[in-house]
Amino acid sequence: MTIICPRCGGGDCVIPADLVLDSVYQMYVACPSCAADPTFGKQTPFSKLGNASGVDDATMRCPRCGKRHLDVVVAHVLNILIREGLRDTQATLFDVGTPMITIGYQIPFPPRLSKDTLVLIMDAIDKKTAEMIISEVPEVKGVIKRKGSRERPIGILDTGSSPHTYDLLAGCDLRGDIVSSAFGELCIYKTQSDTHIEYSRGKSDKVQVLESLYYQRKLGGCVVDGCCGAGTLGLISVLAGAQEVILNDAFLPAVKNTILNIQANASVLGLELEVQVNPSELPTVASTPMLVATAHGSCNVSVYHGDLTRLAAAIDHCDLCLIDAFINVPTADLVEAWKATAQTVITI
Ligand SMILES: [Zn+2]
Ligand SMILES: [Zn+2]
Repeated sequence: MTIICPRCGGGDCVIPADLVLDSVYQMYVACPSCAADPTFGKQTPFSKLGNASGVDDATMRCPRCGKRHLDVVVAHVLNILIREGLRDTQATLFDVGTPMITIGYQIPFPPRLSKDTLVLIMDAIDKKTAEMIISEVPEVKGVIKRKGSRERPIGILDTGSSPHTYDLLAGCDLRGDIVSSAFGELCIYKTQSDTHIEYSRGKSDKVQVLESLYYQRKLGGCVVDGCCGAGTLGLISVLAGAQEVILNDAFLPAVKNTILNIQANASVLGLELEVQVNPSELPTVASTPMLVATAHGSCNVSVYHGDLTRLAAAIDHCDLCLIDAFINVPTADLVEAWKATAQTVITI
């Protein structure tokens, strides 16, 4: 079954997680015919890159597998940026932006890229040049323009604040990250321009918190993932054997990504999704909780779009409420609101 990409409407962006998990370890590997790693450094000025300064579509592309080394792809993008006057010849590969592979996991080697496997997050970039990059560099799938400082988180801090998102200038920004846990692996997809960026560095601290809750026997009953984002913690709880999981987010893109992740990981999780309300009819930031989707099978799953404080009143009881708010956002009111409903409230 083809899963339609919520961003571009295409059928190639979302690969079911079981297929991704089977193939991801081959996805970025060099074939026996691939050339050795390029010798230029990420901090070398473009004018001193030697051969790289004429880099185009054919440069260092493997004649057998068609892949190119990440640094060659980024040098190709830099060549376009210099041609269009957005960088000078002193710029380095590092100055291009943040490259994110479309299926992120901790790769122990520099990736070799095939078509549509790179999403770029850039600072100084305009729409016209972004479109040139998409059409001239086959490996690049999407170009995102960063807004504000690197430190400012993407999304909403609370339901009273307006969302902070980056701009998708060209292509499609849907990408996934492999999340590993003691209970198994998932592929968590996200529309990257409106989702908080988390880099894959092995097992995340948040997953380790869940594992320790599991060993304390606190993950078996009803779990609420209160600020669920793309759904990672709630869906890991499903894998861990929770009887019921309630996922909630006040930010609509997060709710849409959560629903997508139930679909994409359906066979890994043993779940069947049922959408209750068309998410495109919902506001970007919700206050009154609305049940948007359910899923059944190995676990009873509900997905809500709403203010987490208000959701407490709509839920009879839960064993564990996880509150994963942004750093520096006060959570005392949320914890207070959930004290009567949840056996245990954990802020992650
Ligand atoms: Zn797409
Ligand atoms: Zn090759």
